[in-house]
Amino acid sequence: MTTSAPEPDCLFCLIVAGEVPATIVARTENVVAFEDINPSAPMHVLVVPTTHHGDVSQLAAAAPDVLAELVGVAEQVAGERADGQFRLIFNSGPHAGQTVFHVHAHVLGGTQLGALVG
Ligand code: C5P
Repeated sequence: MTTSAPEPDCLFCLIVAGEVPATIVARTENVVAFEDINPSAPMHVLVVPTTHHGDVSQLAAAAPDVLAELVGVAEQVAGERADGQFRLIFNSGPHAGQTVFHVHAHVLGGTQLGALVG
């Protein structure tokens, strides 16, 4: 789904709207960051655009400025909650592990993370 209109059944649209509870850690006009409910690292925050886009490619095509803002908020959160260093992951598609189809960056850090590749 490429639309930027809110999706009534989208969990992260509902979190953005405050209709589903989440621990919000940062908010701008275009981006909301909240703690992942099932953290994989001492810092595990999700950063989402306030508008609905299915995955990172769709967001990049529709609103590259918002994608850049999202990365900036991830860096800000990592500076506030960890040492400023972070891993940013966008799962894109079910085979990549995406389960919520409103684009979100996983911001991981606060410990020495293991290598994923290389
Ligand atoms: O990349 P993926 O789509 O699998 O990530 C979805 C993430 O959303 C999971 O890490 C899950 O723990 C998180 N989640 C959440 N709050 C919810 C539902 C899911 O933080 N209410």
